[in-house]
Amino acid sequence: MTGPPASIIGIDLGTTNSLVAVADPRPRILPDERGRNMLPSVVRFNADGSATVGHEAREQAVANAVTTIAGVKRLMGRSVRDAAGDAPFLPFSVVAGEHDTARVAVPAAGGGRVVSPQEVSAIILRTLRAQAERALGVGVSRAVVTVPAYFDDAQRQATRDAGRLAGLEVVRIVNEPTAAALAYGLGSTVLAPGASRTIIVFDLGGGTFDVSILRLTGGETRSHGAEARAAVSDFFQVLATAGDTHLGGDDFDHALVALFSREIAEEFNGGEPLDLPPETRQSLKTFAEAAKIRLSEADTASVRILLNEGGSENRNTPVVYERTITRAEFESLIGPMVDRAIACCKRALRDAKRELDGAAIDAVVMVGGATRTPLVRRRVAEVFGIEPYTGLNPDEVVALGAAVQAGLLAGTAGDEGGRRGLLLDVVPLSLGIETIGGAMAKLIVRNSTVPARAHELFSTSADGQTSIKLNILQGEREMAADCRSLGTYHLRGIPPMPAGIPRLRVEFLVDANGVLSVRAAEERSGKRLDVQIVPNHGLSQEEVERLERESFAHAREDMTRHRIADLVANARLDVKWIEATLARVGADAGGFEPGYIEGLRERVAGLRAMIESGERDWRGVDADAFHHAKEELDRESVRLHEVAIARSLRGDGVG
Ligand code: AMP
Repeated sequence: MTGPPASIIGIDLGTTNSLVAVADPRPRILPDERGRNMLPSVVRFNADGSATVGHEAREQAVANAVTTIAGVKRLMGRSVRDAAGDAPFLPFSVVAGEHDTARVAVPAAGGGRVVSPQEVSAIILRTLRAQAERALGVGVSRAVVTVPAYFDDAQRQATRDAGRLAGLEVVRIVNEPTAAALAYGLGSTVLAPGASRTIIVFDLGGGTFDVSILRLTGGETRSHGAEARAAVSDFFQVLATAGDTHLGGDDFDHALVALFSREIAEEFNGGEPLDLPPETRQSLKTFAEAAKIRLSEADTASVRILLNEGGSENRNTPVVYERTITRAEFESLIGPMVDRAIACCKRALRDAKRELDGAAIDAVVMVGGATRTPLVRRRVAEVFGIEPYTGLNPDEVVALGAAVQAGLLAGTAGDEGGRRGLLLDVVPLSLGIETIGGAMAKLIVRNSTVPARAHELFSTSADGQTSIKLNILQGEREMAADCRSLGTYHLRGIPPMPAGIPRLRVEFLVDANGVLSVRAAEERSGKRLDVQIVPNHGLSQEEVERLERESFAHAREDMTRHRIADLVANARLDVKWIEATLARVGADAGGFEPGYIEGLRERVAGLRAMIESGERDWRGVDADAFHHAKEELDRESVRLHEVAIARSLRGDGVG
């Protein structure tokens, strides 16, 4: 490609959506060929080995539930144990890879293999890279990528690896809240050395909530030799973070869906829940989200939902649920959820109290689509005592800030006086090593600005010992067991000497991305030691290659387990509903074929036995037979549902 010199792009690699931006010199989003700014972070694996990414993958996710991977960011750089809390919320199977790393099992329908979260993220990054290249008309090979402030070393490393797999050198990893502050120009108002500002970043997206308290400190002004240009090293510190990984605008939608469902049951089914077909349930959700968005602008929103679309015998008389909801009503529904977010804010303020030391809050920055909700804005203004910044699109602010940082690094953006701001991040968690007694010895403490360097001297404990093992830890707790182990470093090639004589100098270096590397030497002999790293959650090139080759025998077992778990859960709901309806229909067999009810009861008993054996041990269950039995019962029970609904609509009290 020809054109202007290659830029560095800024990428917001999000849980739900991802965006790419550039600063040339003003930050702007680079849209796809159809003018869309957001790329859904959704990847579908196709049987022929290809992948479908973004809008298409998301739109067709329901029809391709097992082969579609969404929300993979929740697994980046994590072990299966770390991810256990998230696994039930993820629409795909999580399996263990090397060193217990979390991996995604792609079922046979999607080519049947196990992939790492890094590979899935790389597919998204590759798409963004192509989108940027198309929009800029130049090749792009370098990027600044954002991550949540609480991401640890393994998660950052995984993000970098994902970039590498996508052909992008990740020149800087920036904390999302820092990026949001940069987008509002909060990093370019050059502060006097030592002066500081406190910035709160409130990020409420579709499914996750994060609040961060940042401090921006004015650094020294240094003269850059012949260039005679001053570089100002202002730096951001993360004083505290808090959040809820399962709280967001989607929960507001669910609250409305619950209200609608309750009212539909009252109006049309004597208060008993109505089993609505999937299309109707989907439209309830769509209407709920639309009403929510309308209520951000208007005082009322109306919904009108046709309940007997297609199928049913009474389709000639449309059954319609209509409702006008006021903003006040909506706010009382979502109030408890907003309270949860506010409680997190108060916790973060408490955590940062010592460091804040009475300092005023200078700015509150809003990030994430759900911060458009007026109640959210009001409560945030109340708790922090300051009007939040809402001028930029809250979905784009992180990507725009990543572009600001990218522009500073590439030299395509600068502040007014021609000075280049060099923005530094800090180490979010202390780094150290496990001592003989199992304690954590901190080498680089939390909030040190990067790049950071530290060293420590060690010796051997046995005569002639030629290697030692170091357990590298990250965290603030005192005992190694309470900190996170990043990996084990083997120092090999120590010249044989009596115990305690070798002087092993081990140097830790955290680069500008917050990524750690270790160097070691034996000082008496001057010999550099070979440092072999066994990362806990990292990913080596060989591992990627091996994973790609790995047979999917393992994946198949995990998929069967997952499939049976799904069948058990869904069949339970079916059985519950059918039994409840049968109980209501009771002895009144009018409208049914002879023997129909008995046949149904038998099938229910059969399916119940399968559910129970599936719950005892998934291995003892034939998934295909289970699936078949469930489908048969679903098919056979259509008549029961129809009669029950027809009776309830006639108002004869049954059904
Ligand atoms: P994000 O993950 O940042 O893209 O945020 C997505 C969430 O923001 C979804 O729950 C959307 O429904 C919600 N959202 C988008 N626009 C609005 C709006 N105008 N008012 C309230 N919520 C919105």
